Amino acid sequence: MQAFAASTATGKFAQTEIARRAVGANDVKIDILFAGICHSDIHTVRGDWGKPNYPTVPGHEIIGRVVAVGDKVTKFKVGDVAGVGCMVASCGECENCLNDREQNCLKGTTFTYYSADKVSGGVTYGGYSDAIVVTEKFGIRIPPGVDLAAFTPLLCAGITTYSPMQHWKLGRGQNVGVVGLGGLGHMAVKLAAARGAEVTVFTTSPGKIDDAKRLGAKNAVLLSDGDAVSGLAGTLDLAISTVPESYSIMPVIAALKLDGTLINVGALGQLESINGMMMAFGRKSFAGSLIGGIAETQEVIDYCAARNIKADIELITPDQIDRAWDRVMAKDVRYRFVIDMTKGRKA
Ligand code: NAP
Ligand code: ZN
Repeated sequence: MQAFAASTATGKFAQTEIARRAVGANDVKIDILFAGICHSDIHTVRGDWGKPNYPTVPGHEIIGRVVAVGDKVTKFKVGDVAGVGCMVASCGECENCLNDREQNCLKGTTFTYYSADKVSGGVTYGGYSDAIVVTEKFGIRIPPGVDLAAFTPLLCAGITTYSPMQHWKLGRGQNVGVVGLGGLGHMAVKLAAARGAEVTVFTTSPGKIDDAKRLGAKNAVLLSDGDAVSGLAGTLDLAISTVPESYSIMPVIAALKLDGTLINVGALGQLESINGMMMAFGRKSFAGSLIGGIAETQEVIDYCAARNIKADIELITPDQIDRAWDRVMAKDVRYRFVIDMTKGRKA
């Protein structure tokens, strides 16, 4: 089947042929309608997390239509709309899998792309493609009537920001900082505002200050505005950092209250040093968080459907992927690119 693949770290996308496994007894085959572009796609292809084998087919925000189901499948039937997020398999037996934390599988989660494929060998291929085959457990039910394209980013950007809000129990009236207003950041603003939290956005882009407020933030400051940032010292219960690379993080930690936590969901490489004195005197915590489990992914989908929460997207066609990636790198994404995978297919 057709997919759009990058063949070098800096190369452009081109159509290529990939094979998907036959539909097994517990599998569903999904014809892909929409695929979101996550900054993790770019990190992977550009080799930020290790040199990939090319061609790489990214994409872990996927919504499509079920076109085949295996004999034992009960969760889906042909014609249903289904989603796939960042994972397609895990051991299912370890302590973390048994606690609905498949993303933290002790035997190694199989991520949607560029993971060793334990079923069919080789590596997994993501959503920039015509179709995908997954076990029903890793398929997410998509409620009827939702805006499918704008719902697609919930499968990564949504769950990745929802999960820490659940774990750290972000509640009504609490103050939360969101650092970086891109795909994850804009979902963090919407999801935090929906819980009644007061959101402060930290951005490097002057042009996003007004957007932050439109998306639900009470306050937005430029990270480069030292006075505005230091004026926030000791005000935040929680902060979620979505910045894709290491940056000067101490001003955000200074904005936390006593016992506040900064959760990094952004850069997954080496981060800048943290000042031990400030952490100790404020009994502050620095934490990380990785996407969310399958049950929690279904939860955020149902939560957003019930409240009409969705991403702000720019819908593009597959021939526009290269340009969209350039714009993501230039921080010019408002606020998630979603590829209409039905366009530009070879017959
Ligand atoms: P994105 O759409 O590119 O948004 C990132 C935003 O961060 C940018 O728009 C920009 O916002 C800000 N930014 C970029 N470079 C910066 C810098 N040097 N200093 C300060 N701010 C900067 O990316 P995304 O798709 O939201 O992903 C964000 C990160 O999360 C990526 O690293 C991705 O790999 C990671 N991620 C992690 C998980 C997880 O499970 N933990 C899941 C998905 C993605 P402003 O213009 O507002 O400054
Ligand atoms: Zn992602």
